[in-house]
Amino acid sequence: MIKKNDFLLIGAIVILCLAAFAFMLLSRKEGSKVIVYVDGNEYASFPLNEDVEYTVRKEDGAYNTFIIKDGKIDMIAASCPDKICVNERSKHYRNETITCLPNNVVLEISGGEEGDVDIIAK
Ligand SMILES: [Zn+2]
Repeated sequence: MIKKNDFLLIGAIVILCLAAFAFMLLSRKEGSKVIVYVDGNEYASFPLNEDVEYTVRKEDGAYNTFIIKDGKIDMIAASCPDKICVNERSKHYRNETITCLPNNVVLEISGGEEGDVDIIAK
């Protein structure tokens, strides 16, 4: 038979789990810009709050097309054979990336305060 105290304990655990989950969600910061890296070098950056479609074109003919829409990045087309980057879900949290290994193109979401410091430093 389950005692009343057991119910209280289970209730407390459930509440703790929910609180931890909520904290995790809240502490995930929204990114503020996208940095495009090509062959490991910073190639371009875009603010996340402006919708745009952009294509990275490399000298060897490789390309990656991505869009920024509603604050999210999404790779919509690429010349790579595996299309892993195109199949990635759209991203909008800080430090999330979409990587195209064959083309060596990385889209990285960079966040608020760090981004601001960057701009001042340049
Ligand atoms: Zn790819």
